[in-house]
Amino acid sequence: MPVPSSWNMRMNTKLRTGEIAKNVVIWFACVLAGVELIVYLYYAPMGTARLRFEFLISGLITAVVSLPALAYGMILRERLTVANAALLELLQSDRMSGLLNRKVFMERLAVFMRDAERSVGVFAYVDADHFKLINDRFGHAVGDAAISLIAECIRQNSRSSDLMGRLGGQEFGIFLEGANLKQAVIIAERLRAQVSQASPELGIKGLELSVSIGLAVHKPGQSIEVLISQADRNLGIAKEGGRNAVVADLQRYSARTSG
Ligand code: GH3
Ligand code: MG
Repeated sequence: MPVPSSWNMRMNTKLRTGEIAKNVVIWFACVLAGVELIVYLYYAPMGTARLRFEFLISGLITAVVSLPALAYGMILRERLTVANAALLELLQSDRMSGLLNRKVFMERLAVFMRDAERSVGVFAYVDADHFKLINDRFGHAVGDAAISLIAECIRQNSRSSDLMGRLGGQEFGIFLEGANLKQAVIIAERLRAQVSQASPELGIKGLELSVSIGLAVHKPGQSIEVLISQADRNLGIAKEGGRNAVVADLQRYSARTSG
């Protein structure tokens, strides 16, 4: 899956060997300190020579016994951490599109919007055109493949810092973090154009895929509901105007090119 980001999906299956080594050293130091303290308390009254000898022997035995056990334990712990991260990612993602699911998208958008310093960006509401017709004419499996293709176009046209999610059946949301309206229009227009040219990738004769996109600029302090309803209103205008279009702030940015 390309373009993972801190906001989006991050599949990490690598064991962090540095982390494992660091933990082994820390735990070994703790175990050794404990063992040597007991040795000190027990053998100190028997004289310095005996104490030195017991320190050395107990240190060696502790190293031989505990280092392999600690290394094995830390590797298991790291594997568990990686497996948990992968599970969490599965729970947060939408299986068909590989994007964030609606719940996680909304949660992360809410976190973003609460953070005053980062509260600049544009929300793009993306909806496939005449999708019911596509299902009816070509079947549900083709519809599913079309959803995956649109998601792939979204990934290719977004930056790693953008939030990307599948909000419903054939509806997607993108939050273009830090973008102004002009930049968002360029990105959305590029996405719209790419989707409208991507249909041949599905290998279905007569299928013409397109999306309509409504944009809304987020202003600090604005609620998610207001932001999304503004984008939805612009999406509605794009649909009414003939679809395969980007609409921002009631202004139509691109003419219908197909459909
Ligand atoms: P518009 O251009 O106005 O958006 O028309 P539309 O046909 O895309 O809109 P509508 O909301 O009427 O239909 C959406 C269709 O999307 C209906 C539903 O069967 C289909 N759909 C929703 N989820 C999925 C899915 O996961 N897979 C497939 N294949 N179809 C889906
Ligand atoms: Mg639709």
